[in-house]
Amino acid sequence: MSNNVSKIIQKALSENRTLLLEPEAKEVIKAYSIPVTKFKVAKSPEEAVKYAEEIKYPVVMKIVSRDVVHKSDAGGVKVNIKNGEEVKKAYGEIEKNVKKAVGNYKFEGILVQEFAPEGREVIVGMTKDPQFGPALAFGLGGIFVEVLKDVSFRVAPITRYDAEEMIQEIKGYPILKGVRGQKPVDFEAIISILLNVSKLVMEHPEINEMDLNPIITYPDGAKTVDARIILSKE
Ligand code: ADP
Ligand code: MG
Repeated sequence: MSNNVSKIIQKALSENRTLLLEPEAKEVIKAYSIPVTKFKVAKSPEEAVKYAEEIKYPVVMKIVSRDVVHKSDAGGVKVNIKNGEEVKKAYGEIEKNVKKAVGNYKFEGILVQEFAPEGREVIVGMTKDPQFGPALAFGLGGIFVEVLKDVSFRVAPITRYDAEEMIQEIKGYPILKGVRGQKPVDFEAIISILLNVSKLVMEHPEINEMDLNPIITYPDGAKTVDARIILSKE
């Protein structure tokens, strides 16, 4: 059981929040060895530039607010930012876009993070079934999940064998194996993410819902670029 994770969860609940902010959700999964893009929360454009230099260009910038669940829908995500000028410009634009989309909101900073290059996107999710408890979901990102509903499910806790089956039983599996000479993605990395999500949700029953969407996978490794965790009201 991770102490740090309990602290983040307790802090959110004490503020009457069930949605963890992206940086909080990423701290939580990081504590369970799930790979995430490097990130820092800036409170001013100057600080954002400093963090972007530390993280190294290109970077991605996102709104951090308890009032924004779907960040890109609110104009709160800017990708592939290449220099300090662009960081300052993106900072102002994100603030403005979100204000326009959601009205008054609590601004909690701008998340500056490592830009993950293109790869094959997958998602790992968790929802709670009233009868069976936490169930894990696995699928390919984007239209594969949203339109084709190509997703596999298992009740947690899962074994390594379950994780392997979850990956192999989606229709999109050949895409992960690689087509036309393309290398397979790092299956070990995906298996370990599934096992670690299983461990996390079993050890922290306050987590009611989870969505790692997307995780970008490569022939060598994987990176979670967005994490959403929703707690249950006590
Ligand atoms: P939302 O709250 O809208 O789901 P995301 O954080 O998922 O916001 O960002 C929207 C999209 O931007 C992602 O689906 C992904 O395609 C892209 N993206 C987000 N973060 C990164 C990153 N660090 N590197 C590369 N692409 C990213
Ligand atoms: Mg997302």
